[in-house]
Amino acid sequence: MVAPAAGPSLFEAVNTVVDDTLLKIREDLGDCTRCKLHKGRNKLVFGDGNPKAQLVFVGEGPGADEDRQGLPFVGRAGKLLTQMIEAMGLERRDVYICNVVKCRPPENRTPEPDEVATCSPYLLRQIDVINPKVIVCLGAVAAKTLLNTTRGISHYRGEWLEWRGRKLMATYHPAYLLRNPPAKADVWRDLQKVMAELGLALRKKTKS
Ligand code: URA
Repeated sequence: MVAPAAGPSLFEAVNTVVDDTLLKIREDLGDCTRCKLHKGRNKLVFGDGNPKAQLVFVGEGPGADEDRQGLPFVGRAGKLLTQMIEAMGLERRDVYICNVVKCRPPENRTPEPDEVATCSPYLLRQIDVINPKVIVCLGAVAAKTLLNTTRGISHYRGEWLEWRGRKLMATYHPAYLLRNPPAKADVWRDLQKVMAELGLALRKKTKS
């Protein structure tokens, strides 16, 4: 069992930015060169969607399409994420979508610990500012970062956890679902729990 993350640590509390806004966070990032990922970057991918969303999806980091467009989840995995959001009865503009790292790792490799450590404070600020009811971590990198754990996602996928007083659900990354379509059933079960928490109705399948 992953210990639910308690409220902000003393360190985090001290580092909470008073009157923070998404604009301030973006300005603080600026033309970021804080980690080595900036060297291969075309566009920094900050995040996209409703700044007052009740639901935030957190991915791992931009891929090639995202790096080109400067928007999160716009490639193949992004199309699947869009379908997942729509299956929940929502649109992309209803939710907020962002990543642990804001610049594309070379060859889409997993972000390295120093890159996550450098970039994740901006993610935490984004989530604090948006103040969603529910956070969905897409894949292990997002889950491990927010839960501050090294435990594999399979140990806690689909369970309600807590992050700074908000509900957090970790589920599989859409890129994993593209490689393992049978796991879509698990993700749909997880998203149905999220829908129940947000008071979203399950639509009955209509016969065609
Ligand atoms: N995968 C991610 O984790 N994030 C994106 O923005 C795109 C693909």
